[in-house]
Amino acid sequence: MVNRDESGLADGEPPDTLEVPVLIVGGGPAGLTTALELARRGVSGLLVERRDFTAHYPRAHLLNVRTMETFHDIGVADTVYAESPPEDRWHRVAWYTSLGGPTPLHGRRIGYLPAWGGGPDAPRYALASPRRFANLPQLRLDALLAEHAERAWPGRVRTRTELVGLAWDEHGATATLRDRAAERAYQVRARYVVAADGGRTCANLLEVSMSGPRALVDIVSVYFSADLSAHADPEALLTYFIQPQGGGGPVGALLALGPGRWAADSPTWSMSMHLAPDDPALGDRDALVARARALIGLPDLTMEVHAVSHWQYEGVVADRFRVGPVFLAGDAAHRHPPTGGLGLNTAVGDAANLGWKLAAVLHGQAGDGLLDSYEPERRAVAARNVEHSLRNAGRHAPIGEAMGLAKGMPVERGWAEFAVWAGATPEGEWRRTATRAAVAHNAEDYSQLNIEAGFAYEVGAVVPDGSPPPPEHDSATVFTPTARPGHHVPHVWLQGPDGPVSSSDLVAADGLTLFVDAAHADAWRTAATTASDSTSCPLTVVPITPVPRESGLSAHRVGLPAVRALSTPGKAPLAPELTDPEGEWAAVRGTSPTGAVLVRPDRHVAWRVAEAPSDPAGVLVELLGQLLHHSPPQPESDPLAGLKGIAEAGEALRTGRAREARLFSAVEG
Ligand SMILES: Cc1cc2nc3c(=O)[nH]c(=O)nc-3n(C[C@H](O)[C@H](O)[C@H](O)COP(=O)(O)OP(=O)(O)OC[C@H]3O[C@@H](n4cnc5c(N)ncnc54)[C@H](O)[C@@H]3O)c2cc1C
Repeated sequence: MVNRDESGLADGEPPDTLEVPVLIVGGGPAGLTTALELARRGVSGLLVERRDFTAHYPRAHLLNVRTMETFHDIGVADTVYAESPPEDRWHRVAWYTSLGGPTPLHGRRIGYLPAWGGGPDAPRYALASPRRFANLPQLRLDALLAEHAERAWPGRVRTRTELVGLAWDEHGATATLRDRAAERAYQVRARYVVAADGGRTCANLLEVSMSGPRALVDIVSVYFSADLSAHADPEALLTYFIQPQGGGGPVGALLALGPGRWAADSPTWSMSMHLAPDDPALGDRDALVARARALIGLPDLTMEVHAVSHWQYEGVVADRFRVGPVFLAGDAAHRHPPTGGLGLNTAVGDAANLGWKLAAVLHGQAGDGLLDSYEPERRAVAARNVEHSLRNAGRHAPIGEAMGLAKGMPVERGWAEFAVWAGATPEGEWRRTATRAAVAHNAEDYSQLNIEAGFAYEVGAVVPDGSPPPPEHDSATVFTPTARPGHHVPHVWLQGPDGPVSSSDLVAADGLTLFVDAAHADAWRTAATTASDSTSCPLTVVPITPVPRESGLSAHRVGLPAVRALSTPGKAPLAPELTDPEGEWAAVRGTSPTGAVLVRPDRHVAWRVAEAPSDPAGVLVELLGQLLHHSPPQPESDPLAGLKGIAEAGEALRTGRAREARLFSAVEG
């Protein structure tokens, strides 16, 4: 018997035609997270993936705190944490000459840094989010997300199904899908389409071009099982190798992939090697595997090779993120070098941004104009992240240069320079100091909390209040919590009825959330009820009672009990009583006690008012109309205008131009 869902979509059998609110093309992190963001808001759809979810190549692995907030929302965070390495065994990146070899200069550690919110960075990261950084290779993450999506949309996550055609009009899109198992094509009509296909199909069909440098660096990755426990760094998840043949830049990077055991004890690994585009080994699998062994410095290492893949660094951003009813998300809209681990995380950020907006429009709480905010909001973040990833890629070469290497230097001479670097001479001491400075400069990548957590939407579904961004807003590392419109709502621990709860966990999944002082909550709740009734957008009120520090109350940073909003028929939902024991919310909200902070479901502040207006209901009604029904002003008419930094960073990476200046200023300072 064929098992059919209510739409007539058969499990395992392609339908003749189908109509869905949302069609998602691509079952990678962007598509699957969007499906789960929609499903948790009661929106149904169809996701098609041209392959299946069984093991592909490992690819991305780092999951930053904003991604983990989204994964918490869609119910996968606990499993991700359970499968992630234990906290103390992976927060480190190292640079070595190799893991072994014939001379004392081989197998030598050059330097290391704490990474990804570990070690001395842990308190800073804990101030930005209630969630921790995680690490789960995409090989296993995609399967986990797919399992959840299949549960949320039974029969509507269809593998071996490929989009081959796309037409659209003012009412929606018509997609032609090909079921590769049944070898049959069928059509799906969708109100909206999310093109999360990694850039393979939809951008071409939509005639959207990608701007930015391509083919910057050729990489071959070898995915293998091996016992490196006697050789690898005992704590580093990721180890770069600097050797003379790289001319300063890294020759490869070794990544522990688990599962279960990490760093030196990891059972599986990937070795990503930088190759010249005309390297004769390219295309010769045995030669590439032998090269991997040689670069690791263990030519007799027993390796079980699972896959070998050739790919290139690029740094590109789509000129448009929306074409009619179609939205580009993830790698379809922006592709980054892996340095900084921003590809997958930016893809998940796209899904979090788009999910609530599509749901609000489909539920009749917002107009189509809200969806126009997706492009200006996410394109600016993508451009910033692509540029930062390109700059991260250029931060390794100064390490080799500080050790004495230079482009084109003969290999023998390079090893002689390493001997100087390692020697007990003033020159050796100078080079080691310079090398430490060059390693330290990589904190811009491995401690890039502000890139990951501090991005803000300056134009979009936000109403600026005229306040400037925090002074360190352009820093990669310095994160400043702020309730300024466009920024992520600050995370502070509040005391709830059942224990401590993060302010960021109080944001409702649907509608908007109004954070107010408890003393003024009644007036705001009455206004919120009126505004909600006249706009059909739910508003949840979160009243917070400030408690003076001397009261002795303290929110213990343990456990995260769910706080459910209390609903009273005919009134805006009200969160239970919350106190601000450390006065942290009062310090960061940027309003007087009578003011309010309005937060979107993706936790970004939409609006803030310092003092209660005389007619709060009227103000809220007008505001909701502006936020949810009108297209925001489009920031750039020239699609290349926001991408100058990307072009510069790409050129610097290609030519190595930026390196010397940075190295010597670091040393002299
Ligand atoms: C070798 C490698 C290493 C990487 N390392 C890192 C890293 O360390 N850190 C990091 O952050 N990022 C890394 N990335 C990038 C990261 O993997 C991507 O940013 C991430 O996968 C983007 O997710 P996505 O869902 O947008 O696209 P994808 O994961 O590419 O998913 C797109 C999906 O769409 C499917 N598809 C394509 N066309 C169609 C169609 N016509 N119909 C139906 N389905 C279709 C594809 O089969 C695919 O499953 C790496 C990428 C590669 C290739």
